[in-house]
Amino acid sequence: MPEPLLSNADVQHPDGWLDAHWMAFSANREFKAAPRLIASAEGSYYTTTDGRRVFDGLSGLWCAGLGHAREEIVEAVGRQVATLDYSPAFQFGHPLSFELANRIVEKMPTGLNRVFYTGSGSESADTALKMARAYWRAKGQAGKTRLIGRAKGYHGVNFGGISVGGIVGNRKTFGQAVEADHLPHTQPPNGSFHKGMPPAEAPDGWKGAALADELLQLIALHDASNIAAVIVEPFSGSAGVVIPPVGYLQRLREICTAHNILLIFDEVITGFGRCGQWTGAAAFGVVPDILTAAKQITNGAQPLGIVVARQEIYDTFMEQGGPDYMLEFPHGYTYSAHPVACAAGLASLDLLERDSALQRVRELSPVFETAVHSLRTARHVADIRNYGLAAGITVAPAPGEPAKRPWQIAMDMLRKGYYVRYGGDTIQLAPPFISTEAEIQSLIAALGDSFNATA
Ligand code: PLP
Repeated sequence: MPEPLLSNADVQHPDGWLDAHWMAFSANREFKAAPRLIASAEGSYYTTTDGRRVFDGLSGLWCAGLGHAREEIVEAVGRQVATLDYSPAFQFGHPLSFELANRIVEKMPTGLNRVFYTGSGSESADTALKMARAYWRAKGQAGKTRLIGRAKGYHGVNFGGISVGGIVGNRKTFGQAVEADHLPHTQPPNGSFHKGMPPAEAPDGWKGAALADELLQLIALHDASNIAAVIVEPFSGSAGVVIPPVGYLQRLREICTAHNILLIFDEVITGFGRCGQWTGAAAFGVVPDILTAAKQITNGAQPLGIVVARQEIYDTFMEQGGPDYMLEFPHGYTYSAHPVACAAGLASLDLLERDSALQRVRELSPVFETAVHSLRTARHVADIRNYGLAAGITVAPAPGEPAKRPWQIAMDMLRKGYYVRYGGDTIQLAPPFISTEAEIQSLIAALGDSFNATA
């Protein structure tokens, strides 16, 4: 039996109490042998069931940048549950969803102004992909169905998302449901240690922005008349914060425009502040045709996803003809535009504005960048990448066990009171926007010690 990371002596439950919950994206056997139970959260800290404070170095799962249990969000959610806890998502509306849509549009790049609601990032990815196919059908080009993602891309876990997604471990167990191809990944070689956005052509021999031209090969192979959309994250989050080089997204945009292919940005991680802008699109200076987001919109307090489309896409659906009562886009979820989630979204937007949170991210980012890159000389560090308040550190693999060291490092950090994410061969960081400089420094110092202490 492995040593419990946190004492759960205070959790008085019969044997087998942990068995019924089949946990998501978790090593169930490992967890249940040594559970890590969180009792509460406030600001940038969790409190475990045995009373330890843990700094939230990933803002939950990249979603609680404003910190936990913010009074304004708590109040908005409570008030909304008491006023209108649910209203039918189909054929009915409630004022908050329209108010929130207008507020979201204000934050979007010009031209992205029609908001479709979902319940999560995965639902948003599949909605965007279906929207792209249906759009071309409505325009009389039903052959345009093929979808193109990117190696190491993550677009959630539904069938569309894993088909275009490029994290092999998430795909191979389930197969591919939708015809999709993948652009090569934008990751420079280990040891590049690029800060922020990498250069278009790097001296380390990496091809840089020319990678985007590989889309032309897929277009030559399939013909643009068969391709509906290209979907990418502005930077890949779950793959370990992989930042595309200068000019890469611009070139993708040019090629998509020239060949009548929709460009979708999955901004589930990059949206609503983490880049120091409202969107990665604004940070990178490229406007997609469709943009998805989730997570930070409600500060993680309620599940909510969005798909924001160009008006012409919306208008194409509206102009299909047929009777007024016909559904223009037969798609949606019971929890689309959930009133409580919309209330949380409005309260979060208020706080992001009132606290000048984006400005704070821009101020803290250089401090975070310098601190994170100071780990360059720590043991096992193979590469470091960062953008805004996000960073990925590639860990040199232990012989025969590529994923073991990141797990060991994350667990060591937890023992010391810091939560960081391990995924594949990386450690990932996304501290809250409200972090202090001292908290960033102590997070990184502790991480350096954990790397050095790992065999
Ligand atoms: N897309 C991206 C870029 C993500 O990072 C994630 C989750 O991390 C998702 C989609 C899936 O979101 P969810 O877990 O809310 O379904």
